[in-house]
Amino acid sequence: HAKNLGKNNYQYYNKQLSLNVNEQLQIEQALKKAISNNEIYLNYQPQYDLVSRKITAFEALARWESDELGFIPPDKFIPIAEDTGLIIDIGKHIFETACKAYVEFKSLNPSLKYIAINISSVQFKDKNFVDDILEIVSTYKIKPSEIELEVTERYVMEYSESNLNSMQQFRDLGFRFSIDDFGTGYSSMSYLTKFPIDVIKVDKAFIDGIPKDNNNVLISKAIVALSKSLNYKVVAEGIEEKVQEDFLKSISCDIGQGYFFSKPLNLEAAKKILKI
Ligand code: C2E
Ligand code: MG
Ligand code: MG
Ligand code: MG
Repeated sequence: HAKNLGKNNYQYYNKQLSLNVNEQLQIEQALKKAISNNEIYLNYQPQYDLVSRKITAFEALARWESDELGFIPPDKFIPIAEDTGLIIDIGKHIFETACKAYVEFKSLNPSLKYIAINISSVQFKDKNFVDDILEIVSTYKIKPSEIELEVTERYVMEYSESNLNSMQQFRDLGFRFSIDDFGTGYSSMSYLTKFPIDVIKVDKAFIDGIPKDNNNVLISKAIVALSKSLNYKVVAEGIEEKVQEDFLKSISCDIGQGYFFSKPLNLEAAKKILKI
């Protein structure tokens, strides 16, 4: 019996493995045509000032509706785009689309402060990246200070030396930086102070279950307090309930983002909520 089970398991895993390789290849092939087919677009999730309860910014989030494969979430296609180098062109397309949308948002609501754009570590290693994005911001007449580059805590941890130089170059040009998914990358705050950072985004994992989850209450409190003492703005990600908002406001977290306020919206819907 055990032998049979072993055999079945082997076949099962074998099948799974080849399926995954196939799937990966399929996605790669489809991704190559995704930009020219106009399949990659953005959603925009608002960030709210927890004191004024006004929208201060949007985060641009990539979406891919493949002709052949249907909807593929960014958690799935961004890593493949990174592995294949396609992230360079896709990232440029995302950056330009986000800038174009920001100009529209800003004309509807001049008090908007910036647009946040997720940037992959692979893009920072591309020597044309600086010039490409400078050209885009100048085309759309956007100040670099109106663009927040979101990098993950892992990125900052992994390639410290060259990343520091690269980030400093963007900072000198006026771009803002936020550290995404903070708390998941095991970096220390003292280490982070070496980097030119404006904003800390506390990962949803530490916002979940607040205020019942005592560990998360303590962790989020500590991250907010330390961030503020180091003069970073703090964004709480993944707020889904009013009680979470109340708690985060009570500990002086600056900004909230999450389904409780709004899911990521398409361009039209994002413009609509700016008009209310
Ligand atoms: P992220 O940058 O940390 O984005 C936050 C993710 O959490 C988004 O998922 C968003 O839709 C989701 N989210 C926001 N509020 C809530 C909430 O209240 N509850 C729950 N359950 N989820 C919430 P999304 O759009 O699927 O993106 C996933 C990740 O993919 C992003 O995480 C980011 O790491 C990556 N990504 C998305 N767009 C881009 C992009 O344009 N470029 C790059 N390099 N990465 C991107
Ligand atoms: Mg992000
Ligand atoms: Mg995040
Ligand atoms: Mg994330």
